[in-house]
Amino acid sequence: MLLTCPLCPAKIIHLRHHLRSQNQIEDGEERKVLLRLPRGRIKLRNTRCPQCGITYDNVERHFKSGHPKLTGKMVKLLTKELHKKVAEEQLKLIRDRQQLDPPVLSALDVPVESPLAIPEECLQLLGRF
Ligand SMILES: [Zn+2]
Ligand SMILES: [Zn+2]
Repeated sequence: MLLTCPLCPAKIIHLRHHLRSQNQIEDGEERKVLLRLPRGRIKLRNTRCPQCGITYDNVERHFKSGHPKLTGKMVKLLTKELHKKVAEEQLKLIRDRQQLDPPVLSALDVPVESPLAIPEECLQLLGRF
């Protein structure tokens, strides 16, 4: 089955590989979200209905019961839009979390002569020369 890449117009079978090689998505979690999107496998929980603005636990069911005038095509379209929104939020959360992670300092990154390691008196002495 051909899947549409959520990031570019490509339609491919091996989306996982494509995301990595063509769209430089190195993070496994990000790829997972991006792989679920074209398959429509994004879970919609506590999602706001774009038609009436009320949050529903199962908004897809609500579309049918609450808006019987919506055609099947419209429901599909609205659901797709919501999937996209939820996926974007998930990606944002993943990226925020990555930025919050403290950068890993290896021993090599710590300067040997850290200015903090020099006692105050020595700094004053150094200042005189
Ligand atoms: Zn792509
Ligand atoms: Zn509604």
